[in-house]
Amino acid sequence: MAMNRIQFQPGLSMPEFFQRFGTEAQCEAALEAARWPEGFRCPRCGGAAHCVVQSRGRKLYQCNACRHQSSLIAGTVFQGSKLALTAWFLAIYLISQAKTGLSALALKRQLGVSYPSAWLIHHKLMQAMAEREQAYLLEGQVQVDDAYLGGERSGGKAGRGSENKVPFVAAVSLSEEGHPLRTKLTPVAGFSLRAIAQWASASLVPGSTVLSDGLACFGAVTQAGCRHQPTVVAGRKPKDLPEFEWINTVLGNLKTTLTGAYHAFDFRKYAHRYLAAFAYRFNRRFNLRTLHHRLLVAAANCSPHPARMIRMADDGC
Ligand SMILES: [Zn+2]
Repeated sequence: MAMNRIQFQPGLSMPEFFQRFGTEAQCEAALEAARWPEGFRCPRCGGAAHCVVQSRGRKLYQCNACRHQSSLIAGTVFQGSKLALTAWFLAIYLISQAKTGLSALALKRQLGVSYPSAWLIHHKLMQAMAEREQAYLLEGQVQVDDAYLGGERSGGKAGRGSENKVPFVAAVSLSEEGHPLRTKLTPVAGFSLRAIAQWASASLVPGSTVLSDGLACFGAVTQAGCRHQPTVVAGRKPKDLPEFEWINTVLGNLKTTLTGAYHAFDFRKYAHRYLAAFAYRFNRRFNLRTLHHRLLVAAANCSPHPARMIRMADDGC
């Protein structure tokens, strides 16, 4: 796979990062610009005219029309956090620049916060990525495969039937030249016609052509207005077929990321977030330099998720 274009692109260097986002004031200005690119908008009435007031050391934006006061982080994924913005920005930087994902444990060490705090930061940012990813549908030629996440958690039953194993649909859309464009990795209830029909209507643009290895359930994509083109080769697994090159590459990269960066986690509860975070990075693989800014914009535009929701969320987005 010709990965050089991806591997050798310049990222945001650490000295440059600290020069631009090293102080709370710099982070505030960057968050304000990411949240309101055309200037402040009152979250209650939409008014633009406002004044800035200081209250107990915090900057509050007061709307001139309705007098509503809001803080910079209220209504964003940062809401309710006592952590300095510089720490959040560093987390965003580390997550966006890490080559194969970053664990909460690594984040704890790098940020100097407790493990529960690092875990929450990590999951809130992954949630912002997941919500961003949900907005994109795949179209055109789409390779699909049935895949499983987990099943090898220490202490649990391994292999088939493992309680910690999560079925998911792996899909990659291709350009006319056959190059991968976007991926979408979606946990499903199982590989039934019903589950695949639901998946297809939520993930594909009608009129797309789905290329599968002939697993019967994928025929259900026609219920979402898509064509199904099965490639059936007796006795050969999809991984041996050149037609499935890109889906296999994505699944191989996913495996490296999960085993290299994350310790065993509860796949049933959090699979959607880990998969979406992987897809988010894959889909922006040519834009390493702007990834920090993009993730900041995603976080600024992601609604607040209380810790309780983040912890229990199953299909949270
Ligand atoms: Zn207002």
